[in-house]
Amino acid sequence: MHREDFPILESRINGHQLVYLDNAATTQKPLSVIQKISDCYLHHNANVHRGVHFLSQDATELHEGARRRVQRFINAGSSDEIVFTRGTTESINLVASSFSEAFLHAGDEVIVSVMEHHSNFVPWQLLRDRKGIRLRVIDIHEDGTLNLDSFRSLLSSRTRLVCLSHTSNVLGTVNSVGDIIAEAHSHDIPVLIDGAQSVPHLRVDVQALDCDFLVFSGHKIYGPTGIGILYGKRRWLEQMPPYQAGGEMIEKVTLEKTDFNVLPYKFEAGTPDFIGTVALAEALDYVDSIGIDTIAAHEQSLLDYATSQLLAVPGLKIYGQAAHKAGVISFLVDGCHPYDMGLLLDQLGIAVRTGHHCADPLMQRLGITGTVRASFALYNTREEVDTLVKGIDRVASMLR
Ligand code: PLP
Repeated sequence: MHREDFPILESRINGHQLVYLDNAATTQKPLSVIQKISDCYLHHNANVHRGVHFLSQDATELHEGARRRVQRFINAGSSDEIVFTRGTTESINLVASSFSEAFLHAGDEVIVSVMEHHSNFVPWQLLRDRKGIRLRVIDIHEDGTLNLDSFRSLLSSRTRLVCLSHTSNVLGTVNSVGDIIAEAHSHDIPVLIDGAQSVPHLRVDVQALDCDFLVFSGHKIYGPTGIGILYGKRRWLEQMPPYQAGGEMIEKVTLEKTDFNVLPYKFEAGTPDFIGTVALAEALDYVDSIGIDTIAAHEQSLLDYATSQLLAVPGLKIYGQAAHKAGVISFLVDGCHPYDMGLLLDQLGIAVRTGHHCADPLMQRLGITGTVRASFALYNTREEVDTLVKGIDRVASMLR
């Protein structure tokens, strides 16, 4: 649906109509977002905050309007709780750095899961090495769902934070984060949710979830690269020290000391990507104009169709068979290296991702080195799934 809004989908790759199935890595952009970026540079470009001239105030209004747009999209209580970052990765690094400075001491424990993206794994591993915290890792079941007994067994009086992906970028599993948050909160433990793969695909309401932090990336939700979100409950953000220092994040600087700005600016050192924020707001408008529930239903039906078609391919195994999955399918075909499969599918104009998907601990847990991954967005069609399945059949017979 709405393919006409995405000019790049008309591309021909290697002589074939593009079939873009790498949406978990990044989504394509609708024309409205592309035009918004050029409109900003053409008509609204001046540095934001504190400028007295017209263009600066205009840009500031657009930028702060974008913050309120994000607030509405995830139903945060206040726009002060929306921090602009470069993406999911920077948001998690911000929390790892700043939360740890305020709240973590040697011997304290942080819980992650074995299905995390490296972005939600390596920052905590670095902290382990630098600060002596302990990293505890929730295991999964064979079907790719989180092992809740494993989670419960890891909770201890030293647990200070749980950091969990809402949706796995490899398995597609949608974790029951509401239950995990409730359980963690019953022990007074805050929870960070990595929403990189959930916010673009299902309704996420931070107040209903009651998560303490939610992070996601603009480029995975039809917005531009280089802009991301950290939502944090005010009570945590207020107690956390700044992440980076420079302009914007200060209230007053003397030779002796610096008073920091109020939320959210305390965490936004330097000139923000004010064109990126406005373009992200445009992307959220676009998503809302279709309806996130409509998008979710469409992607679910593609997932169901693709799963049944792929399972009929001889020798194909799908990794991640949870009952509640998002539009991500990882698979391997007997006798075919995923890299070769990806290269040859590309010759047919089909863009899939191959490799470890920045989830090496999960690959080790599954006993494999990588998979082929197809991931869906609102503009994908059943015909594209058919093209993928035919392509896999053809490539598999060549490789064998
Ligand atoms: N977390 C998950 C679950 C992801 O899928 C990704 C990207 O694929 C990231 C984090 C990192 O996102 P970014 O590279 O936009 O910071």
